[in-house]
Amino acid sequence: MELLPFPTDWRSALVVVAHPDDIEYGTAAAVAAWTAAGKEVTYLLVTRGEAGIDTMPPEEAAEVREQEERAGAREVGVDDVRFLEGFADGVLVGGLELRRALAREIRRVRPDVVITQTYADRFAGGALNQADHRVVGREVLDAVAAAGNRWIFRDLLHEGLDPWSGVRWLGWVGADATHALDVTDHFEAAVRSLEAHREYNAALPDDFPAPRELLTMILGVDHGDDAATGTADVAGDGADRPARYRWTVDLVER
Ligand SMILES: [Zn+2]
Repeated sequence: MELLPFPTDWRSALVVVAHPDDIEYGTAAAVAAWTAAGKEVTYLLVTRGEAGIDTMPPEEAAEVREQEERAGAREVGVDDVRFLEGFADGVLVGGLELRRALAREIRRVRPDVVITQTYADRFAGGALNQADHRVVGREVLDAVAAAGNRWIFRDLLHEGLDPWSGVRWLGWVGADATHALDVTDHFEAAVRSLEAHREYNAALPDDFPAPRELLTMILGVDHGDDAATGTADVAGDGADRPARYRWTVDLVER
């Protein structure tokens, strides 16, 4: 299927994921394009990814990974990085508690676009998805609806948060894509944003791809002048790499 261009007629986006680094596996390139175009982007992390570093206790990892997420966000022009309280890495469950917390932030931020992660059991490429990602992707779907209905989560009204039904576009990353955004000019910022997860990256297995290699696999498009590999010496430095980079998403207009 031919992918449609990602819309441009919007002002603000909220990106919601389970863990620090989920945004940096590709979506940060799109975020860099958006902030460069003057759009407002807010990150919302459901957990601090505190169970993600085998060699570091969760109490310490929570602080490290929060700071690494904030550093990665800065690389792509995002200063507003929010973390929910009370939800633990690796054991997220769907339900009203999480949905209310997500609806609360949607009412606070009042975004035009919400981007989250696929709730399918497998990514479009076939790899297995994770429980926390599945929970967040599905709860965001329902939280967007609840954020717009004053009679759902009436306690939010009492907190002074009026309904927000202005989310026009809702997207899931990792699912079969409908829309694409050329992020060629923002690939280096995306690499820096993933590299900002220094301690997390350092604890990965030795054979795990480095940030540049990984993002090339995720975002690289075969439009190079080398027909066999789809790559080209685009930087004139003798290194073959994709000529174009592209971020894709399953996007629905509400
Ligand atoms: Zn994750």
